[in-house]
Amino acid sequence: MPGFEIFGKEEKKEVCDVLDTGVLFRYGFDQVRNNHWKAKTFEKMLSEKLSVKHCHLCSSGTAALNIALASCGVGAGDEVIVPPFTFIATIEAVLNAGAVPVFSDIDETLCIDPGALKEKITDKTKAVLVVHMCGAMAQIDEIADFCKKNGLILIEDSCQAVGGTYKNRALGTFGKAGCFSFDPVKTITCGEGGAIVTDDDKVYNTSHAFSDHGHDHKGDDRGLEGHEMLGLNYRISELNAAVGVAQLSKLDMILEKQRNFKNIMKNALSGVKNISFRSVPDPKGDSATFLSFFMENEEKTVQASKNLGNAGVDACFYWYINNWHYYRNFTHLHNLSSPAPLPLTLIKDLPDYKNINLKQSDEIMKRCLSFLIKLSWTEKELLERVDKIITAISL
Ligand SMILES: *Cc1c(COP(=O)(O)O)cnc(C)c1O
Repeated sequence: MPGFEIFGKEEKKEVCDVLDTGVLFRYGFDQVRNNHWKAKTFEKMLSEKLSVKHCHLCSSGTAALNIALASCGVGAGDEVIVPPFTFIATIEAVLNAGAVPVFSDIDETLCIDPGALKEKITDKTKAVLVVHMCGAMAQIDEIADFCKKNGLILIEDSCQAVGGTYKNRALGTFGKAGCFSFDPVKTITCGEGGAIVTDDDKVYNTSHAFSDHGHDHKGDDRGLEGHEMLGLNYRISELNAAVGVAQLSKLDMILEKQRNFKNIMKNALSGVKNISFRSVPDPKGDSATFLSFFMENEEKTVQASKNLGNAGVDACFYWYINNWHYYRNFTHLHNLSSPAPLPLTLIKDLPDYKNINLKQSDEIMKRCLSFLIKLSWTEKELLERVDKIITAISL
């Protein structure tokens, strides 16, 4: 990770196909597009790769989450259970649907803890939005079971886990809908882009229509299409999709490289005393974008993080204090800051986002360090890096 590290002639070729025709729109213009359908091609490739019935490519991972929530019927006043370790987009999408994000603890998989979900259910709970963080899976079987037993919709935010599997089944295909991101720093990129995948015909048809102002895309004449619902514009352009087609054809190679690098790092670090690795329910299905481990206590983790900085080891993250991915630092959420009042502020008994207590998650994240695995390293650079890491964390 990330896919932009390996841009080459393949991406250029796909983009030039589009530029040569001048058709940047994913629909219509059949006579002049020279048979290039980049968005459609990407959708076919991804659904085959994930063995899922439908895929709809859209403008971002955030858009995919918005589309998935709407298409699964999650809306105003519903509660959606979410993890505190994610990117804010997961939370924003729920808010944008008019629904209330309800945080539930993570476990040592760094994903939502199936055992903690029960406490969070109310008569308003509609869905669980599980996030497969940092390339690897939640305990998805248990979470899917829990949703089934309690009549809840399961949606997967797999934005960071494309290519990951659990017991040979693709992450993103366990729930009613799965969401992916192909933004500039993800495992594979479209520049900007996202996708929703589903086996459910209705969810797919709604997703496709919702992403394009509710147009049903039946028949050839855009002007005569039906529009059964209101939607928005979450379309992807053919230029972005073209980059994605080239990147997606490199996914297997990317995964193989990441897994190899991760094994090397893990083996070298396994001799270090008093660290324990992140729990990964099915190590074979880890997309291996990150290596994460836990130190003994907060104090040592803070010190190790400082040492790593001083030693010039880049791309390592102490999420507990990092501003991007942990609920404690979501100041925009704490204050529900928005350019205009959110519909949510009308809801009584709203969670007090500034004072949520997620002790189990805090205890885990206080001791957690994550290392991004880059594609552009040579094996020599990797080994030098591992040496520096070992020195920095041996306290
Ligand atoms: C990147 C990301 C998103 C949002 O994707 P964009 O394409 O950047 O909108 C959502 N959830 C998670 C977990 C992400 O990492």
